[in-house]
Amino acid sequence: MKRGNALAKPEAPGRIEAIVGPMYSGKTEELIRRVRRARIAGLEVQVFKPAIDDRYSVRQVSSHAGGRIDAILVTRAVEVLRTSAGAADVVAIDEAQFFDEAIVRVCDTLAENGVRVIVAGLDTDFRGEPFIQVAKVMAIADHVTKLDAVCEVCGAPATRSQRIINGVPARFDDPIVLVGAKESYQARCRRCHVVPGKEALSV
Ligand code: ADP
Ligand code: MG
Ligand code: ZN
Repeated sequence: MKRGNALAKPEAPGRIEAIVGPMYSGKTEELIRRVRRARIAGLEVQVFKPAIDDRYSVRQVSSHAGGRIDAILVTRAVEVLRTSAGAADVVAIDEAQFFDEAIVRVCDTLAENGVRVIVAGLDTDFRGEPFIQVAKVMAIADHVTKLDAVCEVCGAPATRSQRIINGVPARFDDPIVLVGAKESYQARCRRCHVVPGKEALSV
């Protein structure tokens, strides 16, 4: 680095922008919006998502409201780094909570290399507990957008994802995959979010 000439640095520094919140809060919508704008600006953008998430279409990132853009599917976080090396000005990553913990270092390395990283994911699981890799990405991010959804019970701003199994709230210790169960998720506020079996701290 040249001393005394700090302004003569042509490239913009990299940065990490985290977009978090519960299900249906518009994380993917916001990611798509930022990707479209970066492309309008003539930047090279690559969009990644974990191969585990096949709810809608396989090679696209899709929002619940219908917006979609093409995405590259990867199974491990390091593949994001390998695939985008030298090829992208902007790297967008959706559903970060489904990636392995290396996603944290991958985002950091990209940003150190001058890349703008837009990373979206659930901040908490159905129990209201942090997704550790998303929590870490939020901590090292340069900018964090925390979105809320609308509570499907009372209409208040919702910050939690409610897991429902066969019509009733999932218990704290229910297995992540329940064979044969009819499962769904709802956005709920803190008051309406219920997790039977979750113990409050007693004083
Ligand atoms: P996320 O990626 O955070 O799950 P999406 O971007 O896929 O969210 O979807 C956001 C869209 O979901 C909203 O614009 C709205 O049309 C729709 N939606 C459905 N249910 C809700 C809800 N309970 N609260 C807010 N938006 C909802
Ligand atoms: Mg989403
Ligand atoms: Zn509510």
